[in-house]
Amino acid sequence: MLDIQKIRADFPILSQKVNGKLLVYFDNGATSQKPQVVIDAIAQYYQEINANIHRGVHTLSQLATDAYEVSRGKIQNHINAKHAHEVIFTSGTTHGINAVANGFASLLKVGDEVLVSALEHHSNIVPWQMLCERTGATLKVIPMNEQGELIQLEYDKLLSDKTKIVTVNHISNALGTINPIKEMITKAHQVGAAVLIDGAQATPHLKPDVQDLDCDFYVFSGHKICGPTGTGILYGKEDWLRKLPPYQGGGEMIATVSFEKTTYADLPHKFEAGTPNIAGGIVLGTAVDYLNGIGFDHIAQYEHELLTYATEKLSAINGLKIYGTAEHKTSVISFNIEGIHPYDIGTIIDKLGIAVRTGHHCAQPIMDYFKIPGTIRASFAFYNTKEEIDAMVEAVKKAQMMLS
Ligand SMILES: *Cc1c(COP(=O)(O)O)cnc(C)c1O
Repeated sequence: MLDIQKIRADFPILSQKVNGKLLVYFDNGATSQKPQVVIDAIAQYYQEINANIHRGVHTLSQLATDAYEVSRGKIQNHINAKHAHEVIFTSGTTHGINAVANGFASLLKVGDEVLVSALEHHSNIVPWQMLCERTGATLKVIPMNEQGELIQLEYDKLLSDKTKIVTVNHISNALGTINPIKEMITKAHQVGAAVLIDGAQATPHLKPDVQDLDCDFYVFSGHKICGPTGTGILYGKEDWLRKLPPYQGGGEMIATVSFEKTTYADLPHKFEAGTPNIAGGIVLGTAVDYLNGIGFDHIAQYEHELLTYATEKLSAINGLKIYGTAEHKTSVISFNIEGIHPYDIGTIIDKLGIAVRTGHHCAQPIMDYFKIPGTIRASFAFYNTKEEIDAMVEAVKKAQMMLS
């Protein structure tokens, strides 16, 4: 069992008042809050070892480099990557997807196909559309059903020897659906396609095992797992990372440079041009340690309790409809109230201290599927409580009364 009050004390922002009310933070799908150890580690880096990495012979540069590489090792262990050099530091999920999509430009031709799913975040749609425009490849979409689940029979039909890459999220940020990615990866490999998994919404809730999944790429953001903004990870299988050209050119990613020819540095540096977010990268390791200290088994179990509780309480509200009722779901609830615009509910409950997301959640195709402008999305983290859910439910009822 988790000691939630003790955990909450790790997050200074949670004891803040917003609009005169105690903050209820249910926008974890957009970004997580940060524990004190993470906040302290950022200051400590700048106070004690700030220097550029992989460059200087001086002591601080060595210390900063060591700390950065230790953090890479922590993330390698966390996701069970075979090699540390398969773990690339990025600025976030968006950066990771763009790096891979850009690399595939050299591999695709007219007639090739890229499969995305109907459940994707814009970050995992637009880079592939850009890739297809550049190469003449065709973008195909794996459809979903009313519950917000990908239709596996349709996926089977779409796969062929034309499919070069399949890109799908592990968990949907808009609906909370947990996709059966392991099976989807196996099927893609049977036709020789690579698979990228967008793990931005999964990594706050579970510990991915990239070797067990056998995915070719797995990307996620640091800021959604209690780490700093502007941090993220691109995991790629060694063979793929060797095959793909670098994403950006610059310092750090080269072996030799002359005006005639440049040779690239070995992995992971080939994909890490320029001075990275050194403090962020180091502190991402601190965040991962913090989460593992709590334990993902505990986190998943507790968040599932919150999901069940909130689903029950919200469903009891007249005229409330929940979008995304997949059998396998994480602690995200998207909903609307009949006849009321989600934005209006969001604005009123914000005045009552409740932070939720309203809108299309960077997933307009999902909203189009349901023919709605957007939803109200409450996304829970392990530091949330049932009392907070009660407060949200009361606030939503109040807003409903005021608006109808
Ligand atoms: C948040 C999110 C992204 C984008 O992450 P950034 O940190 O903004 O780069 C992509 N996909 C999913 C599923 C997300 O939840």
